[in-house]
Amino acid sequence: VISVQEAQETILSRAQALNPAPVRLDQALGLTLAEPLHSDVDMPPFDKAAVDGFAVRAEDAEEGRVVEIVEEVMAGQVPTRCVVPGQGVRIMTGAPTPEGAETIVMAEDSEPNGDGKIRFTSTTPPERNICRQGEDLRSGAEIVPAGAIMRPQLAGVLAAQGHGTVRCHRRPTVGLLATGDEIVSTEDTPAAGQIRNANNYSLSSQARFAGAETSDLGVAVDRDAELSEAVRLGLEFDVLLLSGGVSAGALDLVPKVLASCGVETLFHHINIKPGRPVLYGVRNGTHVFGLPGNPVATFVCFEILVRPLIRKLMGKPEVGPHFRSATLMGEFRKVDKRERYVGGLLKENKSERTVTAIATHGPADLMALARSNCLIQIPPGTGPYMGGEEVQVVAVVDDSRME
Ligand code: AMP
Ligand code: MG
Repeated sequence: VISVQEAQETILSRAQALNPAPVRLDQALGLTLAEPLHSDVDMPPFDKAAVDGFAVRAEDAEEGRVVEIVEEVMAGQVPTRCVVPGQGVRIMTGAPTPEGAETIVMAEDSEPNGDGKIRFTSTTPPERNICRQGEDLRSGAEIVPAGAIMRPQLAGVLAAQGHGTVRCHRRPTVGLLATGDEIVSTEDTPAAGQIRNANNYSLSSQARFAGAETSDLGVAVDRDAELSEAVRLGLEFDVLLLSGGVSAGALDLVPKVLASCGVETLFHHINIKPGRPVLYGVRNGTHVFGLPGNPVATFVCFEILVRPLIRKLMGKPEVGPHFRSATLMGEFRKVDKRERYVGGLLKENKSERTVTAIATHGPADLMALARSNCLIQIPPGTGPYMGGEEVQVVAVVDDSRME
């Protein structure tokens, strides 16, 4: 069987960023920009008041000076008078400054002085409270390069620069197909021998968290005809995630059915625990995974194999998994020839990052998974760990990282 790393490389070698398409700015969060974006107006677009106050010549902005107010300019208006010595213009935040204005005295630093005049109660230095045209961004300048991720911080400047639609690598579509005669829907009460479908919910959460769009294709029973029918529908998506039916049981029909549907299998079984029977294949640009049925195995295989694929399809510069080191607290005694992933509780404080393995009953123990916020990687053949060792962890809640 191939290593986890070989499996990751095989998948990524088959993937490239999806074709760019125009996306509404308010729908583009987390997507990768496919082209550089430029400004079409200076920011600010005109010399503008940063406070409510009085636009005056520098020499008039002194404590005790009295000036005559010749005009009032609100935001959205344009001044008609220019500022000369002895005169000022009352101006509101966001309004264009009049010609000749050298500084703006805040309203708080003035008092009425009768007859359309005001008196300054403190001294304001030159160039105070004026935002000069183009000081933040020049018209025609690059705002972001191609490959940048649409982050919340970027949305405002793009909106201000008229980029209501941006070309991004589109979100991959992911079809989710559970398999198994014993699997009933989450709305049903399981009869004897039945269990509810957990995997489609874990997988849709994971896929959407990674930025993909998901469609739930339900549950296929363990019969060739029904399974093929469902797989054919699933081959319309960029990624098809089946779960269950890939190991060596009498009704594990997925490998055979995928082959009969024209899926070219690139690997089946890798050196991972949990999740060894995982299968990956391709057909006409659709990436197909036969994920193991056990819910924790399904989850782990998604994080380690599928999430990097989704990131690559989305054109992200770093596809992960993004490992960090942490100090293992407590023992982990199990030694295995396989690369093992164990749910852990990662804690970060000022100077250190620690992680504790969560006790589990095995690859179906969804409660142990629910208590975890990361997966601890135990390399093949290593251990027993006595505590205090550096281990690698991949945080499950980490795709909100936009860098
Ligand atoms: P299989 O690989 O089909 O033999 O499934 C392995 C184990 O995972 C069995 O105990 C199945 O009942 C369970 N399983 C398979 N699919 C699901 C699912 N969608 N939700 C929860 N458990 C599942
Ligand atoms: Mg099954």
